[in-house]
Amino acid sequence: PESLIVEDAVLTYGKGEFATPALRGVSLTAKPGEVLLIRGPSGSGKTTLLQLMGAMKEPDKGKVSICGTPTTGLSQKRLRAMRLNRIGFVFQFFNLLSSLRAWENIAAPLDIIGMDRGAAEKRAKALLAEFGLADRADHFPKQLSGGQRQRLAVARAIAHDPPVILADEPTAALDTENGQAVAQILRDLAVKEGRIVVLVSHDHRLEPMVDREITIEDGRVVEERGPARPKSNA
Ligand code: ADP
Ligand code: ADP
Repeated sequence: PESLIVEDAVLTYGKGEFATPALRGVSLTAKPGEVLLIRGPSGSGKTTLLQLMGAMKEPDKGKVSICGTPTTGLSQKRLRAMRLNRIGFVFQFFNLLSSLRAWENIAAPLDIIGMDRGAAEKRAKALLAEFGLADRADHFPKQLSGGQRQRLAVARAIAHDPPVILADEPTAALDTENGQAVAQILRDLAVKEGRIVVLVSHDHRLEPMVDREITIEDGRVVEERGPARPKSNA
């Protein structure tokens, strides 16, 4: 399995007097089987970096390679295909579709990648069971608790079996217990299933779940730590 590699990425928003440098030459490697945490103050470039790692943007300079395929110079269509095949996104506020039932939220993206309806429903319900939501399959998001919604969002993110999971503040809207449950699920996706898991978070409660930590400030990596502790499933 191959890593997700960012090499000397530079990205500036806007031009001339409105130019806002977001990344000023960032390099990092996220490896299969490992949870990588990206931290830094607001405005330091974390979201932009996650967007590069998820093939949502290309850098102005430098390179991003997702499991062996560079994103540089790809057409919008190829970038989209790369996102669909390789990336699972988890967001702070879940981004669930309120008019769809829990299982349909998972099945909808599978539909987009061409899985037939029956198979998508089966896969959705198997994932719900795996995440302790079997009895919530027909509920709508607003009928679920915050922790249940985030578990549903993680299930949706991995439904198409992507090698890379990117999560932006996945536990920020959750209480301690639900935050820990979601963190453990993300950790298992890396350690037990060999996926690449990258988290952007301010949540100190996540630190014990993380293998490596990168701090960015003002568009640059200022600190890199880890492995913080011996690798285990704990
Ligand atoms: P986070 O809480 O993850 O740090 P932000 O609140 O900084 O995120 O940004 C959220 C989103 O808003 C980002 O994805 C970014 O694209 C957009 N954004 C941030 N700053 C600006 C800005 N100055 N102008 C326009 N859009 C912005
Ligand atoms: P973080 O996620 O760490 O808060 P971002 O990547 O959202 O950082 O933003 C990095 C810098 O880029 C900030 O100065 C922000 O204001 C700016 N920025 C982010 N998105 C946009 C955008 N769409 N347009 C203009 N400036 C942006």
